[in-house]
Amino acid sequence: MSEHPRSDALVAEIQREFPRFRLRPKSTSALQRAIDVALKIVTLGAQREYLTRYHTVLGDTLWLPSRWPDSPDDARYVLLRHERVHLRQRRRYGFLGMALIYLLPILPLGLAWGRARLEWEAYTETLRATAEVHGLAAARDPALHDYLVAQFTSGAYGWMWPFPRMIRRWIAEVLADIERETGAR
Ligand SMILES: [Zn+2]
Repeated sequence: MSEHPRSDALVAEIQREFPRFRLRPKSTSALQRAIDVALKIVTLGAQREYLTRYHTVLGDTLWLPSRWPDSPDDARYVLLRHERVHLRQRRRYGFLGMALIYLLPILPLGLAWGRARLEWEAYTETLRATAEVHGLAAARDPALHDYLVAQFTSGAYGWMWPFPRMIRRWIAEVLADIERETGAR
């Protein structure tokens, strides 16, 4: 019996959609370690958790941080729901298109509209999966919203969209959609 039945089932589901999908530890990849060093440099140390906390889809591989083995099943499930959005974006835009949208417009750092849109679509799924797994109250948790706002406005993703009120409006719209769909109030 698996210790992670919910997330293992989702991995199997993702592999039916993306047969080459695989999970690998970042620590085993020279490229991932090089990206970590580059991020520390370009963000002046603001993104120093690339290898320990952040999950990264590149091609068909989900690169896992060092804390993955300790992640509980539900956390893995919510995370995989987010990353599946990036796999579908990659299918939609192609590898090069995805890289260009993610890295370029408008600026690589500080005002990265393309990256913010791609991440916003994925974090919408984070909110939806959180509501499904932990309930609407968890999706409404101000601490979660603060965390999401920080992903966009901090150096975590290179200050990709430093406008917290806009992020909070996006969050409120997604919650309103979820509430409408589930008939919650
Ligand atoms: Zn993401």
